Amino acid sequence: AKLTIGFIGLGNMGGPMAANLVNAGHTVRVFDLNKAAVSELADKGAIAANDASECAIGADIFISMLPASKHVKSLYLGETGLINLLDSKTLVIDCSTIDAESARQVGSELAQKGIDFVDAPVSGGVAGATAGTLTFIVGGEQSHFEKAKLALVDMGKNIFHAGDIGAGQVAKICNNMLLSILMAGTSEALQMGINNGLDPKVLSDIMTASSGRNWTLELYNPCPGVMETAPASNDYKPGFMVDLMAKDLGLAMESAQQSNSSTPMGSMAKNLYTMLQHQGAGSDDFSAIFKLFSK
Ligand code: NAD
Repeated sequence: AKLTIGFIGLGNMGGPMAANLVNAGHTVRVFDLNKAAVSELADKGAIAANDASECAIGADIFISMLPASKHVKSLYLGETGLINLLDSKTLVIDCSTIDAESARQVGSELAQKGIDFVDAPVSGGVAGATAGTLTFIVGGEQSHFEKAKLALVDMGKNIFHAGDIGAGQVAKICNNMLLSILMAGTSEALQMGINNGLDPKVLSDIMTASSGRNWTLELYNPCPGVMETAPASNDYKPGFMVDLMAKDLGLAMESAQQSNSSTPMGSMAKNLYTMLQHQGAGSDDFSAIFKLFSK
């Protein structure tokens, strides 16, 4: 069934995600603080909204894809929040990566107004968003999960129900902590090979066919020139920004603290990404961690 969908947050991820909803034939109303992003989507067939409320009111499904918890909370909650305007027939799907506690707070405040909510953070990067092959990790009630799938199938390939509201965020943070460790480890291994005279392309092929194989080697090589389509070969233009990875690692460390989990590798990765931010690389792609290891 074709739906009326509101979509807010048309950045590196949200832009291509909203475009796929348009391509699937839904009526998609879009909004972003960045006007250029809105016009780009309008050119692709979306309806440009002038503000968040125009985007949201009366929609079957309303999706947000914003940077962090503070943006999500201020969009939905408080006196000026959408909570006061949203229709109770609208299912709210927040695809941003935020802390589980904030997701639960937004979900429970919306529930008090009779508005259904799921958290649905994604994995797969800009390439996955563009190709419509994202993994969605959903937290919320079964019936809300089923309704969310009506829109998520047009943006993703794997759609998981992780548990209650917040569970999607917990799983996503575990994944991104692991991803940051793999990116840092892949970078230091490649650099050591280069320092010992190996061609990084040859070494990458060897490790991709060996036990060190991982997603960063297969799809997102951090060494410039090895993989034409990777951000590393495009001056580390994001992709997925260092600032956002540092944010996710902050969430991972909070979660480790709260659950008394031992995460020495995650903690190391958190510190490396913070250092990278201090070097002025916050807006670079997160594969720029490779540069920390160059001589
Ligand atoms: P981004 O910074 O490129 O996009 C965020 C967009 O939100 C921007 O266009 C910004 O203008 C807009 N925005 C911010 N506040 C707004 C508001 N109040 N109203 C309207 N628009 C507003 O970020 P991104 O890379 O698209 O990431 C979005 C989320 O997805 C983050 O939580 C990130 O951690 C997560 N994520 C990113 C990737 C990736 O590879 N980039 C992958 C998985 C998950």
